Amino acid sequence: WIARDAAAVWHPFTQHATWTGDDPVVVDRAEGPWLIDVDGRRYLDGVSSLWTTTLGHGHPDIDAAITAQLARLDHSTFLGTTHTPGIELSEALIALAPKGTGPDLTRVFYAGDGSSAVEAALKIAYQYSTQTGRSRPKFVRLEHAYHGDTLGAVAVGGHRLFHDAYKPLLLDTIGVASPGDRANGRHRGAVAIAELQAAMRRDGDQVCAIIVEPMMQGAAGMFDHDAAYLVAARELADAYGALLIFDEVATGFGRTGKMWAAEHAGIVPDLLTCGKGITGGYLPLSAVLAAEHVYDAFLARPGDTAPRTFFHGHTYTANPLCCAAALANLRVMGEQNVIGQAARLGERLGKLLEPVAAKPGVLEVRRLGTMIGVEVAAVGERTGFEVCRAARERGVWLRPLGDTVVLMPPLTLGDDETDLLVSALDAAVDEVLG
Ligand code: PMP
Repeated sequence: WIARDAAAVWHPFTQHATWTGDDPVVVDRAEGPWLIDVDGRRYLDGVSSLWTTTLGHGHPDIDAAITAQLARLDHSTFLGTTHTPGIELSEALIALAPKGTGPDLTRVFYAGDGSSAVEAALKIAYQYSTQTGRSRPKFVRLEHAYHGDTLGAVAVGGHRLFHDAYKPLLLDTIGVASPGDRANGRHRGAVAIAELQAAMRRDGDQVCAIIVEPMMQGAAGMFDHDAAYLVAARELADAYGALLIFDEVATGFGRTGKMWAAEHAGIVPDLLTCGKGITGGYLPLSAVLAAEHVYDAFLARPGDTAPRTFFHGHTYTANPLCCAAALANLRVMGEQNVIGQAARLGERLGKLLEPVAAKPGVLEVRRLGTMIGVEVAAVGERTGFEVCRAARERGVWLRPLGDTVVLMPPLTLGDDETDLLVSALDAAVDEVLG
């Protein structure tokens, strides 16, 4: 399988990267938090298959919901027709949407994955500006942001590896400091707020949206920040007539110990993107939750000379199987208090990681709920990768982001598996940095 894979498949990132070189695991089956390869080896999936399988694999309720939906309706376009799972899921998402300072989120626009939800949100924000005043062609983006890899999402990202390669193709953006930056070992929240204020004072009338991963910037290195940044971003967006977008693709659906990371700050954006955990990792689906005033800007007005319609919509938008999986996932989350379980698991992981954090080779452990980055000191070109390789040899699957090792286990992980996750990381750190 490995030879056939190498001859025929073009994988994202890994094949051409200098930090890899190990054979991929050929996954054959999965059970709960376990991935099982074609030779029967078991790996604890410490990153929930890229932060998606929040309830683990093979949950009977989600399996049953997909099977039942398959027997009724597999796919039907959402352009001009609708269907019951798409309607029910919209209602469920609106009921769950964060509440606080900011507008109620009352509309659901479906997309296929995190990047395409971000792409839709950016286009909505720009078109909102043209339809409520005048064209504002700029977006404010944060250093250390990751919003996906389609061109719009890359443009508003702050990850050099992704950004620099495509620079001539990208949208007009204003880059500002990350509130989670640890420059000189100090948290730069206040510096970042000042920089955002200055950027808006200078160019605010050109900005259609500020886009932020609330409370924790994930895929570019796991940098948490204070709620104060979100409060400031809300105030500045309002003061300058820009929209505020929270990208909760990684943080949503209980990952940070609350349903939404926005709830840690009590701030509500105008647009909220979500994906990953929405179906419990069973099928690809994402969504943009939008405030009513944003939706309203797209309604036809008497005297319009051009249509206001949002010119966007993909073939598999709101696929009924995906919507049914998401509905089942949300039902289980409610019935089994998965958010409470996630909060407790996060606390437990925090405690278990204290001795790891104290090791000389470990620079910092950053955590919000079950979203965790363990930054190790570079002792070679690919220390983070080597730690993950050593954990893999101990039956635990982890992911490096540079020299930060990511832990994002299923939210329902049992005690024994939680112990194994941390002990494998602990031993892997000793092996590589000991
Ligand atoms: N936004 C955030 C915050 C993400 O973490 C990710 C994926 N890591 C994306 C967007 C892109 O999602 P996808 O990979 O599903 O396109």
